Amino acid sequence: MLRIRQALACGLLMAGTASAGAPASLHTGVDASIRPGDDFYGYANRAWMQATQLPEGASSIDSSSILRALNARRVRDLVAAAVKARSPTPNVRKLADYYASRLDLTAVEARGLAPLSPDLAAIAAIADRKALAAALGRSMRLDDGSNLQAESLWGIWVHQGFHDPDHYAAHLVQGGLGLPEPDDYLSPAPDRLARRALYRAHIATVLKAGGFDQSDVRAARVLDLETAIARTHASRADTDDVFKTDNGWQGIDFAARAPGMDWAAFFAAAGLAPATLFVVWQPGSVIGGARLVADAPLDTWKDYLSFHLIDHYAAVLPRNIRDERRAFDARLAGASPPPPPDPTQEALSATQAMFGDAIGRLYVAHYFPPRARAAAEAMLANIRIVFRDRLANLRWLSPETRAKALAKLAALRVGLGYPESWIDYAPFAVVCGDAFGNLKRGEAFEYRRQLAKLRRPVDPDQWPGQLHPQMAGAILDLSPNSMEFTAGLLQPPYFDPDGDAASNYGSAGAGLAHEISHSFDEVGNLYDAKGRLGLWWTEEDLAHYRAALAPLAAQLDACGHGKQIVGESSADLAGLLVAHEAYRRSLGGKPDAVKNGLTGEQRFFVAFAQRWRRLQTDASLRRQIETDTHAPPACRSNLVRNVTAWDEAFGVRPGDKLYQPTERFRIW
Ligand SMILES: [Zn+2]
Repeated sequence: MLRIRQALACGLLMAGTASAGAPASLHTGVDASIRPGDDFYGYANRAWMQATQLPEGASSIDSSSILRALNARRVRDLVAAAVKARSPTPNVRKLADYYASRLDLTAVEARGLAPLSPDLAAIAAIADRKALAAALGRSMRLDDGSNLQAESLWGIWVHQGFHDPDHYAAHLVQGGLGLPEPDDYLSPAPDRLARRALYRAHIATVLKAGGFDQSDVRAARVLDLETAIARTHASRADTDDVFKTDNGWQGIDFAARAPGMDWAAFFAAAGLAPATLFVVWQPGSVIGGARLVADAPLDTWKDYLSFHLIDHYAAVLPRNIRDERRAFDARLAGASPPPPPDPTQEALSATQAMFGDAIGRLYVAHYFPPRARAAAEAMLANIRIVFRDRLANLRWLSPETRAKALAKLAALRVGLGYPESWIDYAPFAVVCGDAFGNLKRGEAFEYRRQLAKLRRPVDPDQWPGQLHPQMAGAILDLSPNSMEFTAGLLQPPYFDPDGDAASNYGSAGAGLAHEISHSFDEVGNLYDAKGRLGLWWTEEDLAHYRAALAPLAAQLDACGHGKQIVGESSADLAGLLVAHEAYRRSLGGKPDAVKNGLTGEQRFFVAFAQRWRRLQTDASLRRQIETDTHAPPACRSNLVRNVTAWDEAFGVRPGDKLYQPTERFRIW
């Protein structure tokens, strides 16, 4: 059975620093010399592919990466304008001051290690296990639910509970490792051994820069401790199995269930009341971690805490520490020597990380006019109606399950462009020229803001912490039952409020419908209309679903591993079918005009095929085929072969390579 983590992110695309270039307008790149029925992907995209070049050092370029680059440029300009304008709006002023302070590396250098002194002294003063537990509580960091691998020994993610949809729970997740995976510590493979050696050297360098003697000896001990922590970690497969992570513990349960540490001291220092309800995702890491708090040498713990403290704040510490962190990251990624520092980009990324919401508000004001949201809402309304009709007539779902599916669709909250409310940064004091203090206060502000949710009912309109309007991204979160599409994604070439409806439905519309369909597939089966964990299909529903998918998996074997990509391809096809019907519905019975020599029907399918256009190296394509649950671009485009209306739109006949002679795949 397929079971996955709580937040399902499809095509989540961060605002980043990808390649430059403007988004290609719709219908450019069509190569009319290719017969659509033989190679629809080529027909829709070959001319674009021939006119496009891979940016230097990139393994691929596609509409998403182009949008990411565009959004990144806009964010850079918005932040620069905020700095210049000295805006009276408090949030804008704060983010501008934050950015400017991050760029003031002279001030960072002048302060040296002084900003760390109080915290390093507090660690040095730890005299017993109770004080150690408190220090670990103070060092607890937030997790946003996307990686579930906290930097601190355990991380906390405040999110809806598995069984109580009206209240937030404190999800406790394993953490505490400086290398990305437990295998980096435990595997005898030569490449893992090499990573351990790099990490040990990094720990030693950081401790030495922090003024510690015998840094090599200390580094070896810290690595040993982290190796012991790694042994307590659950596997990725177990973490992805939500039924294994569904472990409700009260704060007062910890002392009996995970003996060895002073949990009262830990929770008090972490700002958590004893009555807090926790979801303990990996109980083994809590039990094992508590034992290590009792058993591992106190001095080793103190070195561990000191190292991670310095390492965590490396970006706002003097240059030798900043450079070491950058060099270590590069060495670990196999990109040695590291690229030259780019202080402007680093300051921008840091400001985005802290003020993602405030920047999103600026982005929306500049680039997402009310008519864009209204047009997207109108499209969504048609898609919802078509979904409702299709669900009501879905043969492979039993009548009682169909009723539950309809209720789930009705309850789905969709955020288009931006969230309904914005973060108030008033309690967060930003001080000019104090990059270290700003980071530390910002983290404390966000930590308190998250923990405060534990005392409030769930706000279903809140966006996931890792998603902001200025990103080009979409998330379907099955718990709560919500979906978000960013303003940075709802723009050309995917969506143009002033553009062609056929293309909007074929591109962004198919994307919206793709995500919604996941609510009703084998993954969506894990959570009900309120986002409560629990399977809501009958055994027969599941059997029917799998049987219905089998022919598509067989068709997809021609593109790679059919079984690996069939779930996402089924969502692609659902998106295509639902968006197509919704497009027809939007016309209200009137014929669409011919534009650029293409009928509306043709433009719909061309937009669908162009949605996936990508230029990539052979190695990148091979890697995708081996690891990705999404089909390669040509395969995603050519799913149109399963739609009769596509045959009709392009006159596809028996004998054409993509023509489906017999039974077409049908699940939606
Ligand atoms: Zn998907």
